[in-house]
Amino acid sequence: MVENRKTTLIAGPCSAESEKQLHQVAAFFQKFNQKHPTFQVDVFRSGVWKPRSRPGTFEGKGEDALKWMADIQKKYGFKTATEIASPKHAELCLKYGISQVWIGARTTTSPFLIQEIAEALKGCNIPTWVKNPISPDLALWQGGIERIEALCPGPVGAIHRGFSLYDCHPYRNAPLWELPIGLKRSRPDIPIICDPSHIAGKRSLIPALTQKALDLEMDGFMVEVHGNPTEALSDAAQQLDFQDFTQLIENLVVKKKGGNSIRMAQIRYMLDDIDDEILQLLGRRMQLVKDLGQIKKEENLSVLQMERWNQVVDRCRNIAQSKGLELSFVQDLLNCLHTEAIRLQQEIIDKEDQA
Ligand code: PEP
Ligand code: MN
Repeated sequence: MVENRKTTLIAGPCSAESEKQLHQVAAFFQKFNQKHPTFQVDVFRSGVWKPRSRPGTFEGKGEDALKWMADIQKKYGFKTATEIASPKHAELCLKYGISQVWIGARTTTSPFLIQEIAEALKGCNIPTWVKNPISPDLALWQGGIERIEALCPGPVGAIHRGFSLYDCHPYRNAPLWELPIGLKRSRPDIPIICDPSHIAGKRSLIPALTQKALDLEMDGFMVEVHGNPTEALSDAAQQLDFQDFTQLIENLVVKKKGGNSIRMAQIRYMLDDIDDEILQLLGRRMQLVKDLGQIKKEENLSVLQMERWNQVVDRCRNIAQSKGLELSFVQDLLNCLHTEAIRLQQEIIDKEDQA
C-alpha cells in the first residue's frame, strides 16, 4: 500500500461523456478517498476536447462539459483538470474556473501552438502540466515547459505518457524511460508524473507500469478511470473500472527512497527498454532476411554470398570501433546473426523445393 502523501494522483475518465458519468466517477473517488487516507485522488481529470486521429469519432462535449466539470469541483471539492490544445481552449478553461490544465502530447510537438497557449495563459496562476511530445525528443518537451514557464507564474509540471514509435509492442506508446529520467535530471525542481494509461493502451499493462514509475521516484500519476470502461466513447481498452483502480493503488509497493536501489532501478529499466528495442529490430531484420531468401530462391542465387557478407562485417566493425565496442564481441554477434540468417533462408529454399 502506498505510504506517500505527497504523490499526486490525477484520475478520471478519458472523456467527459455526460454529466451523469462524471458524477458517478466523482462519487466513487469520494468514497475511495475516505478509505485510502494515505493516497488520495487530488485532481479529477476528464477530456473535454478530444484529439482524435480520424474525424467522425467522438470529439468531446466541449463547453457543456466544462460546466459539468465546474459542478464536480463545487459538489465534491476535487480540483479539476482538462487538456487544452488552443488559446481558445485556455480562455474557456479560465472562464469556467477549471483548476488545472494539461497540454496534450500532439500539442507539445508544436512550439508555435505552445507559444500561443502560453500567451493565452499569460500572467495566470493556473497549474499547467506539459505532456511529453509524441516523438521521443527531450528538447521539445523541455522547450514546451520553458515556454509556459516564461509567461505563466503558476506551477508547471510534466507528464510522461510515452512516445509514438513504429513498433512499440506491447505498449500503445513506448515508455522510453530514459527520457523522463533525463527530464528529471535536468529539471529536479518540477514535478514529473506518469500517465500509465496512455503508455499501456490496455488495462492489463497498467499495474506494472505504475509500479515502475513509482520505483523511479516519479511524483505521481494520471490514470484513466471510467464507470463502465468497455462502453467508453474514447480509449475503452485502457480505462480502469472502479475495482481495478482500487486494486492498482492498494497493490503498489513503496520502495526505500534514495540510495542505490533507486539508481539501480533507473538503470535497469533503461536496459529493459534497450533490450526491447534490440529484439524488435532483430524481428524486423529477420523478416527482411526472409524476404531476401525468397528472392534468392526465385532468381536461383546462392544463399551464402561471401562478398556481401564481408562488406557487412567491415562496415559494422568500423562502426563498432567508433563506438568503443570490443571487436571480438561484435564479431561473435555478427557471426551469430549470419548463422541464423542463413538458416532461415535455407529453410525457405528447402520448403519451396518440396512444394
Ligand atoms: C488524454 O489524456 O486523454 C490524452 C488524449 O492524452 P495524450 O495527449 O497523452 O494522448
Ligand atoms: Mn485518453
